[in-house]
Amino acid sequence: MNLFSKKIISWFHTNKRDLPWRNTKDAYLIWLSEIILQQTRVDQGMSYYLKFAKTFPTVKHLAKADNDEVMKLWQGLGYYSRARNLHTTSKIISQKYKGKFPSEYSEILALKGVGEYTAAAIASFAFDKPHAVVDGNVFRLLSRVFGIETPIDSSQGKKEFTSLANELLDKKNAAAHNQAIMEFGAMQCKPVSPYCGVCPLNTMCVAYEKKLVSVLPVKEKKTKVRNRYFNYVVLNYKGTTAINKRTGKDIWTNLYDFPLIETKKEFSEEEFLGSKEWKSFIEKNKYSIKSVSKVYKHILSHQKIYARFWEIVCTIPLEKIIGDTAIVIKQKDIHQYAVPRLIENYLEGK
Ligand code: SF4
Repeated sequence: MNLFSKKIISWFHTNKRDLPWRNTKDAYLIWLSEIILQQTRVDQGMSYYLKFAKTFPTVKHLAKADNDEVMKLWQGLGYYSRARNLHTTSKIISQKYKGKFPSEYSEILALKGVGEYTAAAIASFAFDKPHAVVDGNVFRLLSRVFGIETPIDSSQGKKEFTSLANELLDKKNAAAHNQAIMEFGAMQCKPVSPYCGVCPLNTMCVAYEKKLVSVLPVKEKKTKVRNRYFNYVVLNYKGTTAINKRTGKDIWTNLYDFPLIETKKEFSEEEFLGSKEWKSFIEKNKYSIKSVSKVYKHILSHQKIYARFWEIVCTIPLEKIIGDTAIVIKQKDIHQYAVPRLIENYLEGK
C-alpha cells in the first residue's frame, strides 16, 4: 500500500461519518445513495435516501412504482433527471438483469444516469472492483497534494487526474481507499479553509508547502448563468385550479407547475396585462386579478429564475381556458403532485 493510501485510510477510520449506505454491500442501496448525492449535500440527501430505501427496499419495488410517486418522493431535491433515470434504470435492472444489480464496471457504466464516478463507486463499494473514484473532491485533493496546475475542468485535466487516481488506488482495498479519498476531499481538504494544520498529508502536500492552497485547483471556465422571467398564472374557478405537467427538454421535466408565461424581461403589471401572450391566454372580461405575488428568485446551476405568481379569479370553467397539456384539479389537492421547489416555496408562503 502506498503512503498516500495508507494515510487517508487511517484518517478515514477515525474521522468517517456514520452514513447508512456505508454499512451495506447492497449495490441497489449504494446506487440509490450515489444518485442522490450526485448534486446534493449529505445532510440534505439523507432524509431522501431513508425515504426511498424504506418505500422501495429493493430495485424491483422501485421498478414497479408509479412515476408520479417517484417524482413526488424526490420533490425538493432538484436535478429531477436523476429521479427519472433512477426509475428507468430500475426497470432495466428488473427486466434485463432479473432484479440482480450488474457487478461489472462496464455494465454499471452503461446504466442510464450513471457516469464514470458513480460506476466506480458502485463497482468498488459493492463488489470490491479496482476502479478509482474521481469527482470534484478527488480532483481538488490530488491537485493540491501533488501541486498539479492543469485545470480540473479541462479534458487534459480529467485525463491526468483520473490516471493519477488509478495509480494511487490500493487495488486490494478499493472500497476502503475510495471511501477514504472521497471523505477526505469532502471533509478535510475542503474547497475553502481546509484543515491543513492537522492534516496527515501536510508533510507531502505541495500546495501546503508552497502556499498554493487557495490557488489550487485551477478552473478553466466560468459557468454562464442565464436569467429567466416566469409569470405563473394561478387560476381559480370555484375552488379549482389548473396545473401543467412539464414535458420536453427544459428544466423540471415530469413535474407539475401552473400555466406559465415566460417573458424576456421582468414585466410591470401594466406591461404584462398588455402583452400579447396574456391577451391570447384569457379573454378580457372573463377574469379579475386577485393578487400579484412578490418576485421569487430561484437559482439553478445555469439559470436564475425570477418568478411572479398571478392569482386570477375566473368567471368561466378552467377547461375553457387551458391548453391540452394542463389539467384541472381542486386547489386543495395540489399537494398530491410533485412540484419544483419554486412552486413549493410559493405555496408555503401563501
Ligand atoms: S495539507 Fe491542506 S491542502 Fe494539503 S491535503 Fe491537507 S488539507 Fe488539503
